[in-house]
Amino acid sequence: MPGTAIDIAGGDAHKIVRVLRLASGDRIEVVDSAGSLFAAELTVDGTAVRATLLEPIDADERAESALQIDVAQAMPKGQKMDFIVEKAVELGAAALLPFHSERTIVHEAGGAKLERWRRLAKTAALQCGRRTIPAVRDPLPSFEALVAAFDRYDCVLFAWELAARVPLRERLPDLLARKERVLVVVGPEGGFTHAEAEAACARGAHPIWLGPRILRTETAALALLAVIDALVLSVPATELRTKASY
Ligand code: SAH
Repeated sequence: MPGTAIDIAGGDAHKIVRVLRLASGDRIEVVDSAGSLFAAELTVDGTAVRATLLEPIDADERAESALQIDVAQAMPKGQKMDFIVEKAVELGAAALLPFHSERTIVHEAGGAKLERWRRLAKTAALQCGRRTIPAVRDPLPSFEALVAAFDRYDCVLFAWELAARVPLRERLPDLLARKERVLVVVGPEGGFTHAEAEAACARGAHPIWLGPRILRTETAALALLAVIDALVLSVPATELRTKASY
């Protein structure tokens, strides 16, 4: 609410003072926990930073995708998930669902990793002008647990290099028409097993071919998100949203 003063600490304060070199009287934008955006005036005293909220700002609605697109990503090795989280947020993903599958190699994702992914999602969202911070969910323990969550979506796009070789521009417009909640599913470095692909399709997922090249796991979701974004931006939002709520 306007007039409220917020003490800013940690990495955000460091960024304001040391990286952006802002001073008292400078203005920043602050997103509150409800997702509302405010202009705020800074008071900087050494490393102590305080922001006093001024007027609310109408966020640019266009920063949020007209579709809710969640990304289910099989857990990759090393630091690759950092990259996927950051880029998926920039490309409009609403949430990330890390999962284990038959061929995932990483068999733990400790709390520290999860915390880092959540921090990265927040930083990426703020940096690219989104006002909602995408959730990074607790990793799902198995592929079956992921398949059980398919019911929450009205379209599941299952990236599979062995899917029928139909170009995305021919498949996606129909698959996404009048949809609201979409899940993109990407496999690990070693890919999905045939049994997993069958199980996914039996639960209504659409196998999707991303082209004649085998993309690395950290490329696949981002490529698909970029294509969806391009298609969705070219379709009037009303057409995407005419589906009655259910
Ligand atoms: N098992 C495969 C490649 C796995 S690539 C092999 O080693 O030959 C990792 C993931 O990226 C896959 O599980 C799939 O979800 C996605 N992917 C990569 N290239 C793709 C393509 N051309 N079409 C559809 N999905 C693809």
